[in-house]
Amino acid sequence: MDELLRLTQHGLYCPAGDFFVDPSRPVHRAVVSHAHSDHARWGCRRYLAAKPSEQLLRLRMNADATFDFLAYGEKETVGEVKISFHPAGHILGSSQIRIEHRGRVAVVTGDYKLGDDPTCETWEPVDCDLLITESTFGLPIYRWEPNATIFAAINQWWRDSQEAGKCCVIYGYAVGKSQHLLAGLDPSIGPIFTHGAVEKANDAYRRSGVALPKTTHVGSVDGKPNWQGAMVVAVPSAHGTPWMRKFGRVSTAMASGWMAIRGNRRRRSVDRGFVLSDHVDWGSLLKAVELCDPETVWVTHGSAAVVARYLNEQGRDAKVLEGQLRREGDEDESVRGEVDP
Ligand SMILES: [Zn+2]
Ligand SMILES: [Zn+2]
Repeated sequence: MDELLRLTQHGLYCPAGDFFVDPSRPVHRAVVSHAHSDHARWGCRRYLAAKPSEQLLRLRMNADATFDFLAYGEKETVGEVKISFHPAGHILGSSQIRIEHRGRVAVVTGDYKLGDDPTCETWEPVDCDLLITESTFGLPIYRWEPNATIFAAINQWWRDSQEAGKCCVIYGYAVGKSQHLLAGLDPSIGPIFTHGAVEKANDAYRRSGVALPKTTHVGSVDGKPNWQGAMVVAVPSAHGTPWMRKFGRVSTAMASGWMAIRGNRRRRSVDRGFVLSDHVDWGSLLKAVELCDPETVWVTHGSAAVVARYLNEQGRDAKVLEGQLRREGDEDESVRGEVDP
C-alpha cells in the first residue's frame, strides 16, 4: 500500500500522484477533505476539493491559491492515480477521498459521520482495499442519541429559559456545528441571533444552497433589543467574554461530542451540555468499516489504538497510522484541547 499513500512529516503523501491529503503544512498540491482548518491548511499553492466545499474554502484560504473542484463521484487523473470525492456527512462539502492506482483503491475518510444532517450530503460507503479512518470518538462510551432526541432537548431548554426570562447562548464551532445546530432549532420559539464568525459561515452555506432558519448577526443589531427569549449561536471562545454582557440573564450551553463526558461541561462552566457531534461514534465507525469492507484499515486520531486492536480481534488487518496525523489549530471537535478552558 506504500505506493498509494505514506505518512510523511507534512502528512499523508501519494507518491504516484505527487500530492498530499489534508497536509499539516503548506505544500505544492493539497487534496482536501473539507474546510476545517486542521484539514484545509492555509498557504498551499494548489487545492483540489469537492465542489460543494467551494464557498467555505474560498472564505478561508489564501487569495493567491489555485483551486480545482470536482463534483461528488467525478474522477480526475492526477499523475498515475484517479481521484474522486464522496460524501462524508461531516459538514458542507466534506468528502471521503478515493484514490485508485493500478486497480487498488484507498479511501481517506477525513472527518465523517453517518446519518442525516440537512446541511450536508449523507455519508455513503465506498468499496476499498485500504480505509484510513479517523477515530476521534472511537471508544465504546461514545454512542450518539438520534438527532431528533437531541434537538427536542435543545428546543425544550430554549422554551424553559424563555419562560424564566433568560436569553439562551449555545456554543458550537463556527463552521459546520453551528449550521447543524441552526437546522435543528425551532424558529417558532423566538428570534435567533449569531456571532459574527457563525454568520460568515452561514452566508457561505446559503450561497451554496443550504436552507437555514432566519438569523440576525448580533453585531448588526441597533439600539437595545430585548434579548429575553432569544437564542444566540456563538463560538466557544466567546464564552465569558465582555461580548456576552449585553444579553443580560443568560442560560449557556455547549454542543459537542465531548459533552458525553460530564466533567467537560463543568470544566467549560456552561449550564447545559448537549451531545451533538459531527463525527462517527463507536457503533457507526465499526459499521462504516463493515460497509466499506477494506482488506486493511489504518486508524488515526483520537482512540486509534483501541479501534485498531478491536478490529484486529475481529480478524481485520488494522493498525494505528504511525505517528498519527498532526492536527493543530483545529476549530472542530477533532482536537480535544479545544474543549479545555
Ligand atoms: Zn472537521
Ligand atoms: Zn478534523
